[in-house]
Amino acid sequence: MKLQMLGTGSAFAKTFYNNNALVYANGCTLLVDCGITAPAALHALGKTPDDIDALLVTHIHGDHIGGLEEIAFRMRFQYHRKPLLYVPEVLAAPLWENALKGGLYQDELPGLEDYFEIRLMKEGNEYEPIPGLSVEIMQTPHIPNKDSFSLYMNRHLFYSADMRFNSELLHKLVEERGCDTILHDCQFINPGVVHASLDDLLTLPEPIQRRVWLMHYADDQPNFIGKTGLMRFVEQQRLYDESELAEIN
Ligand SMILES: [Zn+2]
Ligand SMILES: [Zn+2]
Repeated sequence: MKLQMLGTGSAFAKTFYNNNALVYANGCTLLVDCGITAPAALHALGKTPDDIDALLVTHIHGDHIGGLEEIAFRMRFQYHRKPLLYVPEVLAAPLWENALKGGLYQDELPGLEDYFEIRLMKEGNEYEPIPGLSVEIMQTPHIPNKDSFSLYMNRHLFYSADMRFNSELLHKLVEERGCDTILHDCQFINPGVVHASLDDLLTLPEPIQRRVWLMHYADDQPNFIGKTGLMRFVEQQRLYDESELAEIN
């Protein structure tokens, strides 16, 4: 498996694209989240929506789903196909009713399933959105009463959706589930109310920090290079092999 962040920016970053990821396995491509900047970020990589086999949504915020309208229209009318859309079961109705329906609804296209092959996901199950990639969803705290799901890929790589700091979960993943790679959202200002702050993450013990890659960061990220303990920054649009990410720092 290889991973390439389409973007690594925070919700309002302007010098980085939205924090969305391309995951490649066996010649297929999964797009994890599709924010407002995703179509432009794909274009910057020389790719089109037609290069995507499946999509997965972690939660409903513009930097994670704001590009889905364009992708849906272009898949339907430009490429004439329905990609797979993996969505946590509880998000399927609000994704359509509260987010996408306004733009995508047409008399002959009245639902999300007219644009995507929907695959509902539940916690505790393992899915294979593209061959050779297993994904489990884990509900993690972000905004009160707003569902958000982090991912556990290939039984060793944790990919945080936007989430508040949860030391207990990170300890459990590393100590009980063999997690060797943690891609985590990170904000530089305190307190970390809806994301983990850098200062929160710096409280993690060294063995965990060595596994952490920081993402979803603000435009002033260059000021923090060298100030993240043993944690590394993920660079947007750089292609990483799964094994490279798993190398302990
Ligand atoms: Zn976000
Ligand atoms: Zn969010």
